Amino acid sequence: MKILSPVMDEVIARNPNEPEFHQAVREVLETLEPVAEKNPQWVEHGIFDRIVEPERQIMFRVSWVDDQGKVRVNRGFRVQFNSAIGPYKGGLRLHPSVNLGIIKFLGFEQTFKNSLTGLPMGGGKGGSDFNPKGKSEGEIMRFCQSFMLELQRHIGENTDVPAGDIGVGAREIGYMYGMYRKVRNDFTGVLTGKGLTWGGSLARTQATGYGLCYFMDEAMTHIVGKSFSGSTVVISGSGNVAIYATEKAQQLGAKVVALSDSNGYIYDADGIKLDTVKRIKEVERGRIKEYVKDHPNAIYTEGCAGIWNIKCDIALPCATQNELNGDAAKALLANGCWAVGEGANMPSTPEAVEAFLQAGIVFAPAKAANAGGVATSGLEMCQNSERRSWTFEEVDGMLKNIMVNIYKNASAAAEEYGEKNNLVAGANIAGFLKVATAMDAQGIV
Ligand code: NDP
Repeated sequence: MKILSPVMDEVIARNPNEPEFHQAVREVLETLEPVAEKNPQWVEHGIFDRIVEPERQIMFRVSWVDDQGKVRVNRGFRVQFNSAIGPYKGGLRLHPSVNLGIIKFLGFEQTFKNSLTGLPMGGGKGGSDFNPKGKSEGEIMRFCQSFMLELQRHIGENTDVPAGDIGVGAREIGYMYGMYRKVRNDFTGVLTGKGLTWGGSLARTQATGYGLCYFMDEAMTHIVGKSFSGSTVVISGSGNVAIYATEKAQQLGAKVVALSDSNGYIYDADGIKLDTVKRIKEVERGRIKEYVKDHPNAIYTEGCAGIWNIKCDIALPCATQNELNGDAAKALLANGCWAVGEGANMPSTPEAVEAFLQAGIVFAPAKAANAGGVATSGLEMCQNSERRSWTFEEVDGMLKNIMVNIYKNASAAAEEYGEKNNLVAGANIAGFLKVATAMDAQGIV
């Protein structure tokens, strides 16, 4: 990095102790160096300095009472990163690891991802360090209500439209939406991922996982002339993204042999039986190791990192950030893996990304590959504005088109900047160009 290295230095100085945020910014700035060279006016107008600074960062206290009557205090966050091309849009994460730096990395990435979808959405992200694991229904509801009592001041259908992420699914969106509607006396599409009888969109649940597979199918066909059909796939996680990536990969003819959670992973050489996983994870909210009770031929291994030692053609990390490191990347490559698609946000460490790019395999970065979730949230916003609902097939068809277009745009941008088939560079550049053009047209704000 040359032109943009002062921007990176400033980010590090201004945001100490936020390694994930530094990592996300560095990865983007490194690939934007040729864009800065070609567009000196953007350097002069401070576009790069401004795009790495959130427009607004909100932190708040969330107090609630647990089942024993004890007062609990968590910290809530909403980072409204960039609204140059539309209202802030991005999920809410409930996980004990959540802190300001994690939310900033996610909000920063979201800005580029949302731009890539072609829909008018800015970037934002939020959440809390609340740990939903082991909490009762009542505790989850009271937490969500307390969280929304504060968040509702800062969001709105034309301002900021949050959605789900780790630890936030249909149940939590329901509790939050109920409180929003009560406090504001307003029925609008202020959250996405809603239930189907109260403004939700068909195919939103499936969208991130399905979209990941649509993107991968397009990329694999064009880059290496291969597809899911007949391929062996390893997928990490067993949450929303992992489950629906498994479903679509199977529909496209792949054999998915492994899934995980934060405790360990299962390997089923005959192919994962998704009905069992859905029951354990979506209905019983149990652990992935319970799978082997129903399928004794499958093997459960404690510890989730070992999943990348399983031989596969295609790896889809769909759990969390930095879950796939340099050693895991080497193990995958040594076993003949020829495609990696990021379902989670920033699941590969910089060393892993470098290894994949060096090896010349198909590597689909999260910003492009997992944009199907937010794209379908954008479609949910359209349906809410029109006060109508589209069919599953209509939404799924639009999702597929969007993912194919993201691939085409990222691929074209990579080629234009001399990085053919480097989708990391292509996605960053294509996502950036639209936001930068809008920011520049709107003056110094
Ligand atoms: P869920 O909460 O539904 O599932 C998360 C899964 O990842 C669980 O299986 C969880 O296991 C596992 N996991 C979480 N933390 C860790 C960890 N530290 N180590 C190993 N496994 C872990 O979340 P989603 O499926 O919605 O999200 C997964 C990823 O996809 C996240 O990075 C998210 O930001 C990203 N994403 C999600 C979108 C969506 O529409 N939902 C859209 C775009 C991106 P356990 O139960 O043990 O915690």
